[in-house]
Amino acid sequence: MSLIEELNSQYTELSFLNSAAALMAWDMRTYLPSKGNDMRAEALGYISTLAFKKRVSDELGSILEKLSEPETYNSLGDDEKAMVRVSAKAFKRARAIPPALYQKFTVLTVRSEKAWEKAKVENDFEGFAPYLEEIVSLSREMASLYGFAENPYDALLEGYEEGMTAKRLREIIEPLKKELVPFLKRLITEGKAPETELLKGKFSRKAQEKLSHKALKFIGYDFEAGRLDETVHPFTIGIGVGDVRVTTKYQPDEFTPSLFGSFHEGGHAIYEQGLPAHLKGTSLYEATSLGIHESQSRMMENIVGRSKEFLKFFYPHIQKAYPSNFKNVPLKKFYRSVNSVKPSLIRIEADEVTYNFHIMLRFELEEGLMKGDIQVEELPARWNEKMKEYLGIEPANFSDGVLQDIHWPSGMIGYFPSYMLGNLYAAQFYAKAKSDIKDLEGKIEKGDLKPLLHWLRENIHSQGRRYSPEELLKVVTEKELDPEYFIRYIKDKYSHIYSL
Ligand code: ZN
Repeated sequence: MSLIEELNSQYTELSFLNSAAALMAWDMRTYLPSKGNDMRAEALGYISTLAFKKRVSDELGSILEKLSEPETYNSLGDDEKAMVRVSAKAFKRARAIPPALYQKFTVLTVRSEKAWEKAKVENDFEGFAPYLEEIVSLSREMASLYGFAENPYDALLEGYEEGMTAKRLREIIEPLKKELVPFLKRLITEGKAPETELLKGKFSRKAQEKLSHKALKFIGYDFEAGRLDETVHPFTIGIGVGDVRVTTKYQPDEFTPSLFGSFHEGGHAIYEQGLPAHLKGTSLYEATSLGIHESQSRMMENIVGRSKEFLKFFYPHIQKAYPSNFKNVPLKKFYRSVNSVKPSLIRIEADEVTYNFHIMLRFELEEGLMKGDIQVEELPARWNEKMKEYLGIEPANFSDGVLQDIHWPSGMIGYFPSYMLGNLYAAQFYAKAKSDIKDLEGKIEKGDLKPLLHWLRENIHSQGRRYSPEELLKVVTEKELDPEYFIRYIKDKYSHIYSL
């Protein structure tokens, strides 16, 4: 066996363990009988530990060491070099944290999530604060073990978005703030707001399920390589090659969450379905990053799913699904209603225009925590200041403010920016797809999404983990990340909708 074959045989075994863990997790969140929960959690924990041990094994370390010797490395092909780069980086990162610290952090986050659930219900920030203080302190310890050049936050960010730094994020955020904070104010004060009442009503579960199926089919989701199920907190999960599953949630009084949720999860899923099958069982059979993953979901949900062009084609299907609700609602009115903008307290309910503000706020606070510029006890006050500055509103309690998300209680500091980056990447990718595909919008109007899917497959999905996110962006769009694409997209679309 060559060294590369040895490396890939390690990764193949790892992919089997990951596949087993993913299937167990999918089942836990969909059909597992409640009494089976405890045993499953234990079994899943065991499988995950096996996988972790494999990722940090001396055997893997010695294969990587040999492969990294210049003479050997230089003799490899491009994909093989990328395999070694990606695996060596992952190995180094996993080994940076001593098992005892890793264990301490895992135990802490389990306790902290429990404490957070209670604190959120009871609106008790003080009760939760000690947990967050410990999470921040251990995260700082881990950041120094991972290593960083100038900012401890960068070491955490790296775990979610390779190569991204706080400095770069600030450069990106600056124009977004400068352009979109005043734009939002204008929309609210001078714009003609869409009606949204028409989206409320009674919507049968069966009709919603049928429509979600249709939506997934239209964007190119392959039902022979996946399935759609119902859950409480929707997610997409790749079990392995040829098996990528999506979930959604059906609400009786509103159908838009299940429909646009299906576009969103479908965007994630077609990415995973399009990963390079010939690289299965290697470190390259993976998405580029969380941010690139999110770009695929946000593109399908918002840029495509909520577009005039797509709805021109798809709205008749919606009318057919709910004739009593929409028979007499013209397309234009419906289009405006699903693109209504309203500053809200809750991130996951935010529209396209306001969503990034929720992320900027969280980034600025968590970066401050990591650098020691902000103390946990100051968080609620700082949260409210920033809400007021960016969105013009303030929460009346902690539960709708600083306690709303699970990310900090789960120890995932550095995760939030990938949501914002996803929006920005999506706008930049889409602009390039529009210039590469002749009359893309005309094709979408006719319900033909194949050229777009083909473009995404070729340029993004099939690249797997070959490049870092910024590299991929450069390879595909020939430009660095430029927030101007997103700003222009938002201003064009919403000036029109709000008649500014
Ligand atoms: Zn997503």
